[in-house]
Amino acid sequence: MGTFKALVIDKNEAGQSVSFRDFNETDLMDGDVTVRVSHSTLNYKDGLALTGKAPVVRRFPMIPGVDLVGTVEASSNPDFKTGDAVILNGWGLGETHLGTYAEKVRVKGDWLIPLPAGLSPQQAMAIGTAGYTAMLCLMALEKHGLTPERGPAIVTGAVGGVGSVAVALLARAGWHVIAATGRPEEADYLKGLGASEILDRSELTGAVRPLAKERWAAGVDTVGSIPLANVISMTKYDGAIAACGLAAGMDLPSTVAPFILRNVALLGVDSVMAPKALRIEAWNRLAHELDHGKLASMTSTISLDEVMEAGRRIVEGQVKGRVVVAIA
Ligand code: NDP
Repeated sequence: MGTFKALVIDKNEAGQSVSFRDFNETDLMDGDVTVRVSHSTLNYKDGLALTGKAPVVRRFPMIPGVDLVGTVEASSNPDFKTGDAVILNGWGLGETHLGTYAEKVRVKGDWLIPLPAGLSPQQAMAIGTAGYTAMLCLMALEKHGLTPERGPAIVTGAVGGVGSVAVALLARAGWHVIAATGRPEEADYLKGLGASEILDRSELTGAVRPLAKERWAAGVDTVGSIPLANVISMTKYDGAIAACGLAAGMDLPSTVAPFILRNVALLGVDSVMAPKALRIEAWNRLAHELDHGKLASMTSTISLDEVMEAGRRIVEGQVKGRVVVAIA
């Protein structure tokens, strides 16, 4: 057993600190598969963990990072053997289980899924938890019976990671996509991903009326709070909004009016504990339905040394699209 390089969050009376450390393999947590990590990603939740802005980390010391692609190094799980290419999203990594900003992880094989055919390791992490969550949102809307013929679909936080992938996926599925953003200067970027209209975020931050003019049949919301409340009150009769995020806040200052008078549905979407079968379905669809050129246009790559600074920027809403973290 040797050591490997990892980013580690510690906490004491003085507060939280983040530093690189040679982590001992014997200190890895229980699991039946050891994976050598090649890439991870930066998500909003990673920014919250790195900055300590919200209590995402529930065990110290913690290696942050919720996403990985890598190669199985050792396995006593019958589903995986040495050399298999695998991905992992969520399952408490970076929160309760040592995470992926490290050269190695040890995890339960049940948490891993094979790298889908048609995606390179780098592309899989360009998608990451954010992109896989965007697909879960599209699947939730479809399961609710919504189709593009019913009217437009809004995406909030559109320039962000979940938002960028959601715009591309909904447009590819035939939706007229309204991209809501606080960065209207990114209109060309959003139209390149497939948005038909750009909506200034300020149109969703005013006082929430119980019912407002009906504007969209469906939506993917990544921000919560007042913008989500306004999105709900502007949703057409029988429409639905998939809610996955809280970038504007955890509250929801809404009323029951859209639900009881317009038959609107609010669909909750969680990626962390989603069952394996749903994950495999989402990843197989991502491998086929996400245009590789669009994915490349929304992706930047950083080194592990740059993660701390990028984590500060993502919680300030300054990151565009997706960020891959090269580990090996
Ligand atoms: P990003 O930071 O990449 O995207 C968030 C976007 O929200 C920003 O780019 C910005 O978009 C917008 N935004 C930021 N601050 C505000 C604000 N104060 N008011 C309104 N809009 C704001 O993060 P991710 O895409 O990684 O994650 C998005 C959200 O989804 C996060 O809350 C995250 O926790 C959640 N999430 C949830 C998952 C789940 O399992 N439910 C999984 C993955 C993510 P713009 O500049 O275009 O306005």
